[in-house]
Amino acid sequence: MRDTIRSMTLEELTAALGDMGEPAFRGKQVFAWLSRGVRSFDEMSDLSKALREKLAGRYRLEGPRAVRRQSSREDGTVKYLWELQDGNCIETVLMRYRHGNTVCVSTQVGCRMGCAFCASTLGGKVRDLTPGEILEQVIFTQADSGVPVSNIVLMGIGEPMDNLDSVLRFLELVNHPLGLNIGMRHISLSTCGVIPGIRRLAELELQLTLSVSLHAPDSETRSRIMPVNRAYDVDELFAACHDYFKRTGRRISFEYAMIDGVNDADWQADLIAQKLRGMPGHVNLIPLNDVAESPLKPSRRTRRFQQRLESRGVTATVRRSLGGDIDASCGQLRRKAMENGGEQT
Ligand code: SAH
Repeated sequence: MRDTIRSMTLEELTAALGDMGEPAFRGKQVFAWLSRGVRSFDEMSDLSKALREKLAGRYRLEGPRAVRRQSSREDGTVKYLWELQDGNCIETVLMRYRHGNTVCVSTQVGCRMGCAFCASTLGGKVRDLTPGEILEQVIFTQADSGVPVSNIVLMGIGEPMDNLDSVLRFLELVNHPLGLNIGMRHISLSTCGVIPGIRRLAELELQLTLSVSLHAPDSETRSRIMPVNRAYDVDELFAACHDYFKRTGRRISFEYAMIDGVNDADWQADLIAQKLRGMPGHVNLIPLNDVAESPLKPSRRTRRFQQRLESRGVTATVRRSLGGDIDASCGQLRRKAMENGGEQT
């Protein structure tokens, strides 16, 4: 299967068009068209017919097909199930926040990280997404919904650090002034704690927000619910986070899904505060989304845990849950589609 042309950088596109005998500005022209949601080269009205045909013979740009759209009646959240060229499905969520319209993109088809509470990982990883496939989620969510996107979170299906080359190229593409021009400060990348990826990202000193899915501050609990902890222990993870902050000056956001009787004890709040000392971290407490296949249940101690963290000097917020009526937490819609054999409901 050929990859989408949207994986190409401006430089690559300009060089390829140069090889076809086109002047240098043609690269910019085509690159700009690619972010506007066109699905065929014929829509690039300021290119000659001959060039459009030549491009169509070499490249693909039709983008993913929306097989399902679910809109929340409560808060305007829209969840898309997209079918990719090879028939695989991924999810993208559009969320309307006061600070901007945010798209949550997937980075892989499935996930191999195995977190016990997460629906995305239940069937393992099928494949990585290409940079253009990640970008197309933003472009076509914007085109389909008519809602201009200002923020991006890499928090959909998949582990961004397990597909970091593609993710970095996606960031370059989406950030480009001739593309969607979304600033790094409007982008968050979430990882379950793949330390080499965090270290590599630190070296790039990008102005994006790093989110770390912590979910437990102690090795024993974390290894139980997040197998990644057996390879990258939470104490090394905290050390990598401290280094990341020193290098980039960017505050890290820690995701913490509150699970009944597992990670919601007072001593665990105290341990978080202790491990974060010296770094202005922000803990985002998430009410656990009940995944049917998992025995883990939502905690009822969230407020108390938040107060405990705050009393120890850690900024903690409780995430407002959007799209609860539409299976908006990632992985759930794709699983349902797989169970139904992909038929539309
Ligand atoms: N692989 C990356 C990004 C995708 S998951 C990561 O792990 O960070 C996005 C966030 O949703 C992560 O913080 C993840 O731990 C969390 N999450 C997954 N399943 C959840 C559930 N059932 N309830 C609450 N949060 C969940």
